[in-house]
Amino acid sequence: MQTRLTESLRDTADGREADAILRACVHCGFCNATCPTYLLLGDELDSPRGRIYLIKQMLEGGAVTRQTLTHLDRCLTCRNCETTCPSGVRYGQLLDYGREQAEKLVSRPGFERLRRWLLRKLLASPAHFTPFLRAGQFLRPLLPAKLKRRIPPYQRSVARPRAVYARRMLILEGCVQPAVAPGINAAAARVLDRLGIALTPVAGAVCCGAASHHTSGVEEGRALARSNIDAWWPQLESGAEAIVMTASGCGVHVKDYGQLLRDDPAYADKARRVSGKTKDISEILANEDLSLLKPAVKPGRKIAFQTPCTLQHGQKLGGVVEKILLDLGFVLTPVPDGHLCCGSAGTYSLLQPLLAHRLRKRKLESLLSGRPEVVATANIGCLLHLQGHTRIPVVHWLDLVADG
Ligand code: SF4
Ligand code: SF4
Repeated sequence: MQTRLTESLRDTADGREADAILRACVHCGFCNATCPTYLLLGDELDSPRGRIYLIKQMLEGGAVTRQTLTHLDRCLTCRNCETTCPSGVRYGQLLDYGREQAEKLVSRPGFERLRRWLLRKLLASPAHFTPFLRAGQFLRPLLPAKLKRRIPPYQRSVARPRAVYARRMLILEGCVQPAVAPGINAAAARVLDRLGIALTPVAGAVCCGAASHHTSGVEEGRALARSNIDAWWPQLESGAEAIVMTASGCGVHVKDYGQLLRDDPAYADKARRVSGKTKDISEILANEDLSLLKPAVKPGRKIAFQTPCTLQHGQKLGGVVEKILLDLGFVLTPVPDGHLCCGSAGTYSLLQPLLAHRLRKRKLESLLSGRPEVVATANIGCLLHLQGHTRIPVVHWLDLVADG
């Protein structure tokens, strides 16, 4: 694709990178066929190719309106289009840059700005989110069914093994997950304990920054990334093997720290190293002796695995969890159109509820079509989004590996 970026952008590193991505796109439209928003809405401007065109127009100095922002907002950032694209267009990176520029050029209505600010403050801080959730859980019995479904019931925290091993890994606890489902990180610690690996949280580590990044708070997200790097760096220097992620939505974001902080001379190198050391827990298990985990597993359980977009398209780890589950003796039921997003997509289900609900309905039909006993996933956001509308239990796959 030919481009003519404005002079002010042409000479910047970001501008050059965006230009290279735009030029890689040959406008073939293959990506439209796997884009969930295009499949639902049928509007070219709600497809990857259309959004690429909107971003190109903006970077060339063309008109940018509320409508531009609306089409960019409707993107799930699922990156299914990247998986489909034969030309290797790095759509996610272009979208991040396009959104950042559009936010500077178009102001959102006051209500929308307030909503995004509130989401950032709430989701990125356990000190705000946990009391908010507990209040909701206390009032849950009194709430109408529709609202009740949105509030997960209270779960007790679970003790973790305290053994000390030569092999040591760090865990990012997350902000929402410890309050909603504290058993997941405890399950990760038990599973790694059986493999002779100690898993430790690090004081000072905070939210990964994804929630801020996706709600118009890119700089706030960068500040959180710097805090995490400061917290993890001494541990990495003293021999911690990896930074383990149990939520694929956090994992994909931390793996992007190198890109996010590439222009920060004080953090660019460290951010690249932190990204390189960040692993989804499935990447760790895939390289270990799984026979050590078999005694805890109940083989033959029928599971429908929902592969989060952040795992399959963002981190390119599609099939890894499935192979581990099969190797351990579980039975996987078929999941048609497994490449399509469930509609959770970080804060998307809160900001674009109508589209998110339509995607969830379709995803649940697909997941339940093979009559599984349980649905498993690898991301807390998908888990909560799906569990809100089915009676079949939706769990993190680590829960099954830890306790059968
Ligand atoms: S992003 Fe890739 S698949 Fe989509 S139109 Fe461009 S080249 Fe084709
Ligand atoms: S990231 Fe997902 S929703 Fe956005 S354009 Fe690509 S396929 Fe469509």
